[in-house]
Amino acid sequence: MREKLEALLAAAVTELSQVGTEEGLQELRVKYLGKKGELTAVMKGLGALSPEERPIIGQVVNTVKGELEVKIDSAALQIREAKKAEKLRAERIDVTLPGRRQPIGTRHPITLVIEEITAIFAGLGFTVAEGPEIEHDFYNFEALNFPKDHPARDMQDTFFISDTILLRTHTSPVQIRTMLEQEPPVRIIAPGTVYRCDSDATHSPMFHQIEGLMVDKGITFGDLKGILTIFINQLFGQGTGVRLRPSFFPFTEPSAEVDIACVICNGKGCRVCKNTGWLEILGAGMVDPEVYRHVNYDSEIYSGFAFGMGIERIAMLKYGISDMRLLFENDLRFLKQF
Ligand SMILES: [Zn+2]
Repeated sequence: MREKLEALLAAAVTELSQVGTEEGLQELRVKYLGKKGELTAVMKGLGALSPEERPIIGQVVNTVKGELEVKIDSAALQIREAKKAEKLRAERIDVTLPGRRQPIGTRHPITLVIEEITAIFAGLGFTVAEGPEIEHDFYNFEALNFPKDHPARDMQDTFFISDTILLRTHTSPVQIRTMLEQEPPVRIIAPGTVYRCDSDATHSPMFHQIEGLMVDKGITFGDLKGILTIFINQLFGQGTGVRLRPSFFPFTEPSAEVDIACVICNGKGCRVCKNTGWLEILGAGMVDPEVYRHVNYDSEIYSGFAFGMGIERIAMLKYGISDMRLLFENDLRFLKQF
């Protein structure tokens, strides 16, 4: 009986060494210590022993049982500890690793200039108007007093899509669309993309303009000069010199080119202003009565002025950019400076 018990213990210990899971341990526990287990079966046989043998063997049974329980419990503890250690290793977080920084972009200089100019004119009561970049000849030329075969059309190297559809060459068609939609008073600015067949260090086939239009009763050339002077002083600094030179545009009469005192040399003369001391920054004029005729405004009652400027030119002057192509090459080393 004693040998049988010891063999049982040895078998259980061997099996125990091969078990690696909690489920396996549970099976082993049932196999040896359960109600129908092997050790229990031996204990049931105690009754057949002599009264002298019974306590001795009983003690051996208890010892074996206790030993087996301790071994199984410690094996279970080892398995749980190993599992916990494995889980900790798998979920390990290195808190000393630097975080991943979300890259933050900067706004494009063209956007910055459009926003600044828009804010200045908003302060003067102008609202923003928009129009399509693919435009009808009527809005881009005809209604702006560029009759068919007029030489002024050649001044704008147009991308034609068909005989009557084109990529707008200026933001001026927005004037026509606005006036056809509403009665005076009109006070709008129209920033947007325009297209001309032209490309070098100071010209891009795609560029940006801001158009302005103010129409009401009794608007004079003095209002034009006053509004544009306020605008220039806000954009380039108080006291910036302003000069108007007579010019020609089909849709304004009289027309003027507006110059500012060179922001690089303060009017002394430099390479940028070609030693004139002045920089041309926008074109303007009183809206031609022929334009009012196309939008059914009575030019005997209403008058007004329009102006337009190239955003790239202003951005280049403001930020000292020498080549316009830099603005469209998407070089991050350039764009990150703004
Ligand atoms: Zn200069």
